[in-house]
Amino acid sequence: MVDHRPARHAALLASLGAHDIDALLVTHLPNVRWLTGFTGSSALVLVGPHRTTLLTDFRYATQAPQEVGGAAEVVIERSNLWERLRRLLADDPPRALAVESHVLSVRDAARLDGAVRQPPVPLVDLVEELRQVKDDDEVAAIRSAADLAQDALAEILPSIVAGAREIDVAARLESALRRRGSEWHPFPTILASGPRGALPHGRTSTRAISSGELVVIDFGAQVDGYCSDITRTVMVGRPDERQRTVYDLVEQAQRRAREGIRAGMTGKEADALARDVIASRGYGEAFGHSLGHGLGLEVHEAPRLAVTAEAPLPAGAVVTIEPGVYLPGWGGVRIEDDVWLGPDGPVLLTDGRTDLIILGA
Ligand code: ZN
Ligand code: ZN
Repeated sequence: MVDHRPARHAALLASLGAHDIDALLVTHLPNVRWLTGFTGSSALVLVGPHRTTLLTDFRYATQAPQEVGGAAEVVIERSNLWERLRRLLADDPPRALAVESHVLSVRDAARLDGAVRQPPVPLVDLVEELRQVKDDDEVAAIRSAADLAQDALAEILPSIVAGAREIDVAARLESALRRRGSEWHPFPTILASGPRGALPHGRTSTRAISSGELVVIDFGAQVDGYCSDITRTVMVGRPDERQRTVYDLVEQAQRRAREGIRAGMTGKEADALARDVIASRGYGEAFGHSLGHGLGLEVHEAPRLAVTAEAPLPAGAVVTIEPGVYLPGWGGVRIEDDVWLGPDGPVLLTDGRTDLIILGA
């Protein structure tokens, strides 16, 4: 396997140079992992003009050097990471230090008071911007996470029957994900039946599913740190005309977006691929969220596919395509697949099996 970390480090230094910055304190753990390979829960990474240092604590004395290898100097600090950081900054003072202001707490920012000559420069999403473009190993990990999640869903589909409680089905699904090797659930499984499907991010409840209801299932797996994010809406019993109509509309919009999306489009243009279809049939108001989001070490990351997203989508990004229609009192339909924006067009990482699954009919 190619070590992608030197290229990532070089890209980060180039980006810092463009901001006239010569050091960055990385505190967001997914960014730490992407840059150094370290998977622990406590670390500060100082990307400096002369060296990159990862500070962590005693719990990771064995793990950190193994994972990080040559990607950074590892310092195991037994008492206080921030005091140690201040000493490192004093020994090799940067001209201009940037911090990740979207994640650094006010308390931690205060811990840097007086540690550098100039007040730290707040930068937002610098590493996140670089993380948008996935290398082949990252795409492969997301694909594995998608395969795993789809297998888990296939296993538990027969348990979605009239009388089953949402929470019991979700527990089965989460168990199946773990048994297949998912490192963790990237987010709590959403399983919303009948009228509860109208809540786009409704929590799974103890409600029992009835015959004649649609069930929205939004779930994912994590492999090598990378997430998949899939939504399927399934039918228990025979769909009535309205259920069929709404489902087909969302399916048509989702297919148009996942086939038509291209790198270079803005997030807004991609969003419009699905939104125009739904709006043209009078359901525009019922599609109240954005089309999708980037996917990687985090389940929600850059880029955004939304009405307000003016930035072009970079080639190599992995995004979700997840339009939905939500009608209060009736229910909802959402269909979500994961797509890699390759040089020759979109490549599905999920199975794209979006025809309506009818259970227990
Ligand atoms: Zn989802
Ligand atoms: Zn999603």
